Amino acid sequence: MERRKQIDLSLVVPCFNEGGNVRRFQEEVREVFAGSGLTYELVFVDDGSRDDTLAQLRQLFQEGACPIQIVRFSRNFGKEAAMLAGLQAARGELITLIDADLQQPPATVLDMVRILREEPQYDCVAAYQDQRKEGKLQGGLKDAFYRLINKFSDVEFVANASDFRTMRRPVAEALVTMGEYHRFSKGLFSWVGFATKFILYQVRAREAGETKWSLPKLFRYAWDGILSFSTAPIKIAIYLGLTFALLAMIYLVVVLVQKLAFSIAVPGYATIVCLILLLGGLQLFFLGILGEYIGRIYIQVKQRPVYLVKEHLTWEASPDQGGTE
Ligand code: UDP
Ligand code: MG
Repeated sequence: MERRKQIDLSLVVPCFNEGGNVRRFQEEVREVFAGSGLTYELVFVDDGSRDDTLAQLRQLFQEGACPIQIVRFSRNFGKEAAMLAGLQAARGELITLIDADLQQPPATVLDMVRILREEPQYDCVAAYQDQRKEGKLQGGLKDAFYRLINKFSDVEFVANASDFRTMRRPVAEALVTMGEYHRFSKGLFSWVGFATKFILYQVRAREAGETKWSLPKLFRYAWDGILSFSTAPIKIAIYLGLTFALLAMIYLVVVLVQKLAFSIAVPGYATIVCLILLLGGLQLFFLGILGEYIGRIYIQVKQRPVYLVKEHLTWEASPDQGGTE
């Protein structure tokens, strides 16, 4: 579309209760981009915030210091949904996904843009963080997660890579064609392919508010990733089932030989109880795993939208309104 050509870069910013951050975010972006010669827009997605995020965004929109879009969800749909909505609304030739909390420095976006301009062989520049600001336990768990998921899934998951990335329009268009309800972007980014360059960035402390991640949420997220990009958990049941069947057959032969050839009575109360419990437990466990997949199929076939928009404010696409400063 023609009007897209007018803008070089869209910054897609998912916001959930970021009232204390959005103004600072906008100010820092303007500061960093001043004199860069880039035209840009900010695409804020208000993911059902319960604080004053929307009021703050409206004010920024009214002030009109730079072109702004506000996509307002009807409720909280999660960051994945917010990123999707932002990608769909973005008009730039390049599109950046960046958090509102200023943990990801806007200055890095300039580096990403420079790389994409100078190195045409890359379609996407993703940032990964160097030092994780988290405890040993959490770090260890994350490492284990990456080892596990890379073993089991077809696409590659890059350790510590965040959603913080800048991509060319075709990559964004590829991402929005993926119609899955359970979106796991770390996997989607690899799945769509395109050449990605990884650069290092120093994650900063959150400006205001608090992170939405707790340990149970991270577990849920990891589990989501495995279920979305691998069917290995179901296959484990096949191998385990086969192993037990084989062991049972060997044991049957042993028992028969004992009974028939040596007339040894085989007492087995404890063995039977243990085996019944073990196999019953395993069966329920894998039934549960099957259930997880079936649940996802169930949700997916309903074809519910990933998000609902209550309101979409957008800057005029007139030629005199660019974001250059
Ligand atoms: N976010 C969102 N919807 C949610 C949770 C988070 O849009 O349900 C946004 C949040 O506003 C922030 C980004 O996603 O801009 C990253 O969230 P957070 O800072 O909590 O994650 P962390 O940086 O700790 O990984
Ligand atoms: Mg954050």
